[in-house]
Amino acid sequence: MIITVASGKGGTGKTTVAVNLAIATEATIYDCDVEEPNANIFLKANLQKIEDVFLMNPVFDLNKCTFCRECAEFCRYHAIAVLPSDILFFPELCSGCGGCKIVCKHDAIEEGKRKIGEIYHGKNEIEIYQGLLNIGEARATPVINQLKKHVDKNGIAILDAPPGNGCPAIETIHGSDFVILVTEPTPFGLHDLKIAVGIVRKFNIPFGVIINRHGIGDDSVEKYCKDEGIEILMKIPYSREIAELYSKGIPFVKEIKEWQKKFVELYEAIK
Ligand code: SF4
Ligand code: SF4
Repeated sequence: MIITVASGKGGTGKTTVAVNLAIATEATIYDCDVEEPNANIFLKANLQKIEDVFLMNPVFDLNKCTFCRECAEFCRYHAIAVLPSDILFFPELCSGCGGCKIVCKHDAIEEGKRKIGEIYHGKNEIEIYQGLLNIGEARATPVINQLKKHVDKNGIAILDAPPGNGCPAIETIHGSDFVILVTEPTPFGLHDLKIAVGIVRKFNIPFGVIINRHGIGDDSVEKYCKDEGIEILMKIPYSREIAELYSKGIPFVKEIKEWQKKFVELYEAIK
């Protein structure tokens, strides 16, 4: 079963929920927040690199090129500029779609590749897979896509999605059996939750909401969920004890046994 923990807004406690749920259920966690993976701060596994992630990049053969500009006109990412007798290629803009190679009628483009990230694996109590996007790279989705190839659908897989509602979050959510949307009871939390709900509904994936830091802010998230018929799966209180454990990098299910039980019950309810 694949459960993705996502949030429209950063800083809501998404990774906290993902890690605690994974530990309580002895699941494997996949840190898909590849621009800033932080689940292992809590797990403290000895991560080992298991593979590199490459993106297809065009390589131009100027001896065959007629400088017709068709590749540049095709490229929606403006990664190619054709000059009268040269081609400028901007790799950081290239999505690796391969379209320029297809449209070139003069066989002047070869498939090259460029390393954009790495995949790591480790184990400490539970298994963790982590993607890491190279600094300065703009395209997180190929790293997430490759990371997700390690998901074992026969076990319990908890995917920690990148924050926000952009392509990396959508790439993570796609193909999940269930999505947990973590939010906080504030106007910002509600605003971004509504966008995230719209995305999950488009994919037709069952989902529910966890309200973190319950007790701060207002009840607008609860009212919204009630009006929309969205189940609130769990409320995690605004608690000094939980905050202190978080600040020490300790998952709170390990220290507060009632929460271990609550996360197991959460998983059973989702199942
Ligand atoms: S489409 Fe092919 S021939 Fe035309 S400019 Fe691009 S690489 Fe050169
Ligand atoms: S592979 Fe796609 S994104 Fe990259 S240069 Fe070619 S057309 Fe543009």
